[in-house]
Amino acid sequence: MVDFCRRGEEAVLELREKAGVPFFVFPLLEDTGLVSHCFSTRLGGVSKGEFSSMNFSFTRGDRPEDVMENYSRMANALGADRERMVLSWQTHTTNIRRVTEADAGKGIVKERDYRDVDGLITDVPGITLVTFYADCVPLYFLDPVRRAIGLSHSGWRGTVKRMGEVTVRAMKEAFGSEPEDILACVGPSICKDCYEIGPEVAAEFEAEFPQEDCFRILEKKRDGKYMLDLWTANRIVLEGAGILPDHIEVTDLCTRCNPDVFFSHRAMGEKRGNLCAFLSLKE
Ligand SMILES: [Zn+2]
Repeated sequence: MVDFCRRGEEAVLELREKAGVPFFVFPLLEDTGLVSHCFSTRLGGVSKGEFSSMNFSFTRGDRPEDVMENYSRMANALGADRERMVLSWQTHTTNIRRVTEADAGKGIVKERDYRDVDGLITDVPGITLVTFYADCVPLYFLDPVRRAIGLSHSGWRGTVKRMGEVTVRAMKEAFGSEPEDILACVGPSICKDCYEIGPEVAAEFEAEFPQEDCFRILEKKRDGKYMLDLWTANRIVLEGAGILPDHIEVTDLCTRCNPDVFFSHRAMGEKRGNLCAFLSLKE
């Protein structure tokens, strides 16, 4: 049984389980019939200890053969081809890579010949985009008209730099996507009540976002620290990029609130695995 708590009354994400692997999906994306996608949990894999059990990071000290088995299990659950997954190389940039057939397998069965890539876009069916998380915000994009997708990593640094808008612009340039056609989902990540930040981070938001937005994003506390609402901040960024409000879905699941289900940097520090977002266009 997977036990978790939601933020809010209505379920935004739905829990699925296939071949022993639990994962979350957005009905907004699933109902199009055009994509296969999910946000992983830490359950259903073979990794041990702090990586227990569905860890997707090869770089945090876990056994590579265990991580590879985890990818195989997820690929099987999603009906995806593990050999055609393409992994990001996240360093809190706003660099986006247009993924082509030549990239299939990079980061999983082939060396990556790129780095500092926090966003992936493609119009190639059957290639699965993969990005990494443990509290930061995953952004999913689908243009059902041009048949193109995007997946971006938007932590506080990415959010300040408007990663969501950068991704929409990249899809427009690469595929001719119109923002009003795009569906966007803000995936499981840290909630406002769990995310305390210092004044130096708050100042970066105050420099980038107008005051009325900052009232919605930042809550100042008596001790001079702030609570940061990355979910609302990313919604503001996506709406600012021209995506229609009812084409945006925002997670009701907090990674930090559910340490039995998700890896959370704030809950676990460096002793943890990584979750992943997966997204592919159906063939
Ligand atoms: Zn929380």
